[in-house]
Amino acid sequence: MTGAEATLFVDAAQVVTCAGPARARRGGEMADAGVRVGVAVAVTGDRIAAVGPRPELERAYPDAAIMPCGGRVLAPGWVDSHTHAIFGRPRADEQELRAAGVDYLEIARRGGGIHASVRDLRQRSDDALFMLALGRLRRLAAYGTTTVEIKSGYGLSIEDELRSLGVIRRLAAALPMRLVPTWLGAHEIPPEARATPGTRNRYVQMLVHEMLPRVAEGGLARFADVFCEPGVFTLDETRTILDAARSAGLLLKLHADELAAGGGAELAAALGATSADHLGAISSAGIAALAGSSTVATLLPGTMLFLGRRTQAPARDLIDAGAAVALATDFNPGTSPTPNLPLVLMLGVSQLRLSVAEAMIAGTVNGAAALGLADTVGQIAPGFSADLALYEVEDVRELPYWYGDRRCVASWVRGKACSQFDLAIT
Ligand SMILES: [Zn+2]
Repeated sequence: MTGAEATLFVDAAQVVTCAGPARARRGGEMADAGVRVGVAVAVTGDRIAAVGPRPELERAYPDAAIMPCGGRVLAPGWVDSHTHAIFGRPRADEQELRAAGVDYLEIARRGGGIHASVRDLRQRSDDALFMLALGRLRRLAAYGTTTVEIKSGYGLSIEDELRSLGVIRRLAAALPMRLVPTWLGAHEIPPEARATPGTRNRYVQMLVHEMLPRVAEGGLARFADVFCEPGVFTLDETRTILDAARSAGLLLKLHADELAAGGGAELAAALGATSADHLGAISSAGIAALAGSSTVATLLPGTMLFLGRRTQAPARDLIDAGAAVALATDFNPGTSPTPNLPLVLMLGVSQLRLSVAEAMIAGTVNGAAALGLADTVGQIAPGFSADLALYEVEDVRELPYWYGDRRCVASWVRGKACSQFDLAIT
């Protein structure tokens, strides 16, 4: 290793390493975020090479460039493992309707909800969708997020789902952030498939036999996801779709038990899904199933807050049972339009009763595990990708404290400055 390509990150008040096993942290393992004081971080090329006392690293890398951290906190870049970032217009109108007491069925009857986003996306060009998502993902990056999972799911036709996944591929080439594409053709039953009895089943068959093969052949997605919830896709339909997706080489995710306990968490564990997401209404059997499996429980407290619900997923019960919990934004136009992952960590502490260390692990290591990337990102430890973020705070406990405020001052992905970072938010 030559010193010329090395950089030493020095003078951080704290380095939150999250270092440990390269896998999901479960139960009590989440209690330690590996906060270190008085250490520097050596980056060579796109990797973290060493964490240790500055004099030691200066001897090992005598020609290294110096990146002064100025008494701030250095942490792994956030891994936002659940977003729906490919969409058209914001649905700000629905927020006011909800406040006035209009329920989601009535909002849908008036032309709102997921179907509003579907109609909107189908009318937009690929370039328009690309430009909208580009700006929105830069906002996620501005809060310290360096890895983002992005789902399709507002197309709900072969053409429009493939277009959405194609836009994600273009974004991955255009942005320094690490993007993980998920096929969510099973986000909803589209209106045209609701017309007559039997068309619903034809939509599921079309997903499995026509859309999925195109997604897999094109290498357009790493994950397949299904909205498994009473009134959306049933357990049987979910199993049919995800079995086919696994056979096609995709990893699995589920939207499970968001509003009602319908056995989604149990199905995720039985299928060996990488994650089960939402879980606002998970049953005790579901908690036990996840705790006894390798499936990460991904919680989205911003969604419950935004919808004005007074309940949250039982994060404490999940962790105490031995499950691995991740936190993500659920960034989407209808139920969680926030790009701010530290705000979600604040909700993790204040609403889900996580410790700061548990919230940090949930936004880094366990987010990475929810994307099958636990050996690549989420830790400041030798061999991991140099995905870093620097915050204008002196103590890690301030990250989920200054809620809503953007404290991230710089971020790096694969050892390179996240190029969008310094652009003004306009
Ligand atoms: Zn979602």
